[in-house]
Amino acid sequence: MKPVLPSILRTSAIVAALLASSSALAQDKTLNVYSARHYQTDEQLYGEFTKQTGIKINRIEANDSQLLERLRTEGKNSPADIILMVDAARLWRTQIEGLFQPVKSKVLEARIPANLRGKDDGQGPEWFGFSTRARIIVYNKDTVKPEDVATYESLADPVNKGKVCTRSGSHPYMLSMIGSMIERNGEPATEQWAKGMVANFARPPRGGDTDQIKGVASGECGVAVSNSYYYARILRSDKPEDKAIASKVAFVWPNQKTSGVHLNIAGAGVAKNAPNREAAIKFLEYLASDQAQVYFADGNNEWPAVKGVNVKNEVLENMGKFRAENVSIASIGMNQVGAQKILDRTGYK
Ligand code: FE
Repeated sequence: MKPVLPSILRTSAIVAALLASSSALAQDKTLNVYSARHYQTDEQLYGEFTKQTGIKINRIEANDSQLLERLRTEGKNSPADIILMVDAARLWRTQIEGLFQPVKSKVLEARIPANLRGKDDGQGPEWFGFSTRARIIVYNKDTVKPEDVATYESLADPVNKGKVCTRSGSHPYMLSMIGSMIERNGEPATEQWAKGMVANFARPPRGGDTDQIKGVASGECGVAVSNSYYYARILRSDKPEDKAIASKVAFVWPNQKTSGVHLNIAGAGVAKNAPNREAAIKFLEYLASDQAQVYFADGNNEWPAVKGVNVKNEVLENMGKFRAENVSIASIGMNQVGAQKILDRTGYK
């Protein structure tokens, strides 16, 4: 005859055994995070997750196109659990290539605002934004009046002829910005704008956002667009060369009387063939926690995606308050094909 334990004891024994096995599982569980973002503070961010869950993080860091290439090559056998991308255009590209899977999570739904998530077709979004960055207008204080460059649209006005610098129009940051303009102003008006921009260039597009800020400081450019964190990084720097740049330039929060500043995100989703789907979702939920939001945003001078979470970042605070556009990041991603066509037609390289 089998020994029969009282049922209450039996249940708790089972629960204890389950707990032990699940924490043992967690002990040797490793989550593979494919990340297009690499900052020192991410160490702390990931370390804290391991502390809380016992799940280790293996970071595979590369730029976005290298990550995409790797995911394509690995296909079904990819060990990727999480794909972390910066910019809506890149998240959208990852999504249409079928590299994410939808995620239903009450935590993420409650924490991440709807306009900062991928489209939900009933299965849940495929990606979530975890920090926001603004595309600002940077100008040379000696050669440009802020009222002439108060909007993205104004950069294409004849008053700014020979003054405008941007990185390549086809860079995701520009595609997203133009995608947002398409959403707000429509394609014909955006094409007119792109024509005006090409007519106003101080030089053909080249370099990254920081190079545009340097161009503005040197006087080669009168005005440029840049992600806010590049600007903040220069303001925060103690290097004499950065201080010299900072002394020459100023910025405006664009479109304050109209549509608001163009916002973009860094975001992540669960990889299509994630070996550790549950742990991956847990990781995304962790990224939406108050503490992780602070690490995630502050590490790159960005703003948390979750409302009510505040970072103590003096430089960002000194940049002042702004009104952000109310355009869904998902639609900005979807408009990038239209944006690229406009660039091709107008010769905006
Ligand atoms: Fe960047």
